[in-house]
Amino acid sequence: MNKNFRDIRTPFYYYDTALLQATLDAVRCEISQYPDYHVHYALKANANPRLLQIIQQAGFGADCVSGGEVQAAIDAGFPADKVVYAGVGKSDREILTALKHDIFCFNVESIPELQVINELANKEGKVARVCLRINPDVEAHTHTHIITGMAENKFGIALHDMMHVVELANELPNISFEGLHFHIGSQITNMQDYVALCQRINEIQFMLNKQGIYPLVINVGGGLGIDYHAPEEHPIANFKAYFHVFEQHLHLRPEQSLHFELGRSIVAQCGSLITQVLYVKQTATKQFAIVDAGMTELIRPALYQAKHKIVNLTSRSDTQAKYDVVGPICESSDVFDKDVLLPFTQRGDILAIRSAGAYGEVMASTYNCRTLVTSYTDKEVVLS
Ligand SMILES: *Cc1c(COP(=O)(O)O)cnc(C)c1O
Repeated sequence: MNKNFRDIRTPFYYYDTALLQATLDAVRCEISQYPDYHVHYALKANANPRLLQIIQQAGFGADCVSGGEVQAAIDAGFPADKVVYAGVGKSDREILTALKHDIFCFNVESIPELQVINELANKEGKVARVCLRINPDVEAHTHTHIITGMAENKFGIALHDMMHVVELANELPNISFEGLHFHIGSQITNMQDYVALCQRINEIQFMLNKQGIYPLVINVGGGLGIDYHAPEEHPIANFKAYFHVFEQHLHLRPEQSLHFELGRSIVAQCGSLITQVLYVKQTATKQFAIVDAGMTELIRPALYQAKHKIVNLTSRSDTQAKYDVVGPICESSDVFDKDVLLPFTQRGDILAIRSAGAYGEVMASTYNCRTLVTSYTDKEVVLS
């Protein structure tokens, strides 16, 4: 039985699984033209088991950044041979988890990590398939906190060390060198950044081929951005343009497969954080709408000045006013947005914070001894 949202204790996450399904269908439709393309869903964007179930059933692989995520992917039914695993700090226990499941590929970020994987694989009597995560020194034009592919970032192996590490990977007996991995950042909307990545990969492949090295796997990571300003107009990211860039600019050899790790663009638009207005507080210069959700439920605005569209689901007023929408947490950064134009808003009104399906619920905490946020889908709750 579908409940009305007014009868549910706030705050909570609401997931539109019909939109998620439409998004997955759009991705599948685009890549059906490219038989060598494979999409791995980046679990770190949202590991809610109900969403994982739907994504897994659509035939996607999984991209993991911890042993816990590898386990969550396996538990959700993702086939182990479609699981990839990146991360600069993989612990022995996490590596053993991934070895036990015989995942498709470790994305290795340093020489010491490569040596440890080799040792552990040897003890387990296995050969670990690895891609080397190369730091391509390509700039993504996005927020500085979510750029990952520049020389100064902690991620990946520097270009000038690459040849040496490939040789080492080829020498280690319990390592099978499969190819190269890249990930330049997140919320990338300028396709030129991906063109630059493709060109850099072409140069790298040319260098490797000259040395007689032919990687089979090219993994270009994720990062495709979504429209946070107008989610209703653009509920589904432009996957057509995205895959087209790689088709046009990346020189893929017939034996190679191309892998993508999309997170945000799969799940962001299907999620909303639903919250109730506790108080409207007027000061000399400001009007605050104080709501019952805070950075404990959605930390993106506090963590990297992210903007989410906020709408009032219950106000019937046709006069508008500006509000600073803030949470109850004892931190000055617990602000969802400032000077938000909303219809006249009062205590008891329900607000929806849009585009919150990625890096929302998965980053929730119990700071201030709050209860961990819960979630519902469109199968359980009607939002209109
Ligand atoms: C975070 C991450 C992704 C997914 O990024 P999105 O911006 O959510 O698409 C993909 N690959 C790696 C290695 C990551 O760390």
